[in-house]
Amino acid sequence: MSQDQSNRTKTHHHNKLSRRNFFNGLVQVSVAGAIVAFVPGDVLARPLPPPNQNNWRSCNKCRTLFFNGFRSKGRCPAGQRHAANLGGQFVLTFDSPGPGQRDWRFCNKCFALFFDGFPNKGVCAAGGAHFAQGFNFTLLHDTRAAGHQPNWRFCKKCEALFFDGDSNKGVCAAGGGHVAAGFKFILRFRGNLEGDVEQNPVRP
Ligand SMILES: [Zn+2]
Ligand SMILES: [Zn+2]
Ligand SMILES: [Zn+2]
Repeated sequence: MSQDQSNRTKTHHHNKLSRRNFFNGLVQVSVAGAIVAFVPGDVLARPLPPPNQNNWRSCNKCRTLFFNGFRSKGRCPAGQRHAANLGGQFVLTFDSPGPGQRDWRFCNKCFALFFDGFPNKGVCAAGGAHFAQGFNFTLLHDTRAAGHQPNWRFCKKCEALFFDGDSNKGVCAAGGGHVAAGFKFILRFRGNLEGDVEQNPVRP
């Protein structure tokens, strides 16, 4: 092989490799292009997170969860108005497709969160039964999640949600302390998870 032939062979070989790399490159670009075209569509197709409401607090006196967002603080079974425990501000999800249990409602008489899924509407500290108003909330239960507080239970006497995490069972509108039944709920508290708040922004 002359020097000239050897160079041409090398050149030819190099061109073949280059062409193969070029086609490989085209395949990679088209695959990458398909992914790039697919991802934004997927993001747009993802349903928006359900809305939520801030300003739910545990009452230091009765241990029920009540809405603290009004100037008036409802009616506490321990007497007069609820007194917010400032340790945790809870965020409740409403209009949610799940998971969790629906039909948790605000009572516009006592301001407690109560379960409205039974024909019987429990016992209200303001007299008679609870009366639902506003959003239909969904509570997560029998699961664990970062930024959520466990030990929230349904009281089978007054049908409100109360904190069952210590020996003090609060004051029940039906008399005595609350008595837990059913699911073990967890409540999300505000300002705990930056990423979570980003994805599921807390409404003011
Ligand atoms: Zn109270
Ligand atoms: Zn009530
Ligand atoms: Zn109770």
